[in-house]
Amino acid sequence: MAILKSEARLCLNCMEEHQVDIVEVTEQETFKGVNVEFTAIYEFCSNTDNYLETEDMIRANSLAVKDAYRKKVGLMTSAEIRAMRKKYDVSQKDFSEILDWGGATITRYENHHVQDRAHDDILRKIDSDPKWFLEMLKRAEARLSTKAFNLYYHKACELYNKKKNQYLIDSIHAIYATFEGEAVTGGVELDLDKVVEIINYLALQVVALHKVKLMKMLWYSDELNFKRHGKAITGLVYEAWPKGALPVGHDQIILLENVCFETVEYGENVGYKFKPIQGFEGKYLTDQEIETMDEIVKQLGKLNTDEIVDRMHDEEAYKQTPIYSIINYSFASKLSLN
Ligand SMILES: [Zn+2]
Repeated sequence: MAILKSEARLCLNCMEEHQVDIVEVTEQETFKGVNVEFTAIYEFCSNTDNYLETEDMIRANSLAVKDAYRKKVGLMTSAEIRAMRKKYDVSQKDFSEILDWGGATITRYENHHVQDRAHDDILRKIDSDPKWFLEMLKRAEARLSTKAFNLYYHKACELYNKKKNQYLIDSIHAIYATFEGEAVTGGVELDLDKVVEIINYLALQVVALHKVKLMKMLWYSDELNFKRHGKAITGLVYEAWPKGALPVGHDQIILLENVCFETVEYGENVGYKFKPIQGFEGKYLTDQEIETMDEIVKQLGKLNTDEIVDRMHDEEAYKQTPIYSIINYSFASKLSLN
């Protein structure tokens, strides 16, 4: 028995004024044939050694039994269902409407009524799959107010985009899982937060930052930082392509959240022009790394695509690397920048 709170007042058990404790007690109960352990809350009267339950406590204790049961048999608890609904920012009534369940179903599930397995599966699927929720939402559009629908739609899209970004992050890390050794990685683990920050940092200061130039500038940043401080910044691994260094996973990297570009047409070709996100603020790069970046911007920022490609072709690291092979950091000491 643990005392949560103690206050001097009229005790409704013995009807005398004394110190009444609010206590937590571990109890066991059988619910739907399953024995569960749960934490109950009572008022304790030290005069009579009796426990007393207020109305609120009766409600909370009964919910605790049911949540202990839900946990034990692997169903979402009332708090988990509530948190999931809040994540989507949908009212209890509208959530039931979207699922085409009875109007008070979700309200009941967030309280005493234990959901069955089929409904639990649906709730879990919604929790982990915003795309699926979007489909359910569209199906229910006619039954919701326009304002509510738009609000929910916007929120669900936001969750979906976050999820997509997570898939993207996972896939890039999967590609990188086999890379090891300082000469390949520059002595740091892949840090996509820094990659995104560098892209924005460059996009903010470099006019007309197209993809080929950006990729070269990433390589130069990592290479120069390695030359100066013995480690790269991002952990990206670069290969020697005809137009110079290209990080492995470059197609995925430019799709990461907070990497922003517009597509530009040049005759038959489509190019990407990178822009900083609105209100960009750096938080991952160290002061030392920013010094490296500033040198890169100063030395290379004004070069056009052809000029930076030519510059790259003259780098010892590029000349010594067979085409499409990984560019080794062991050439960093010969970099044309200091
Ligand atoms: Zn008492």
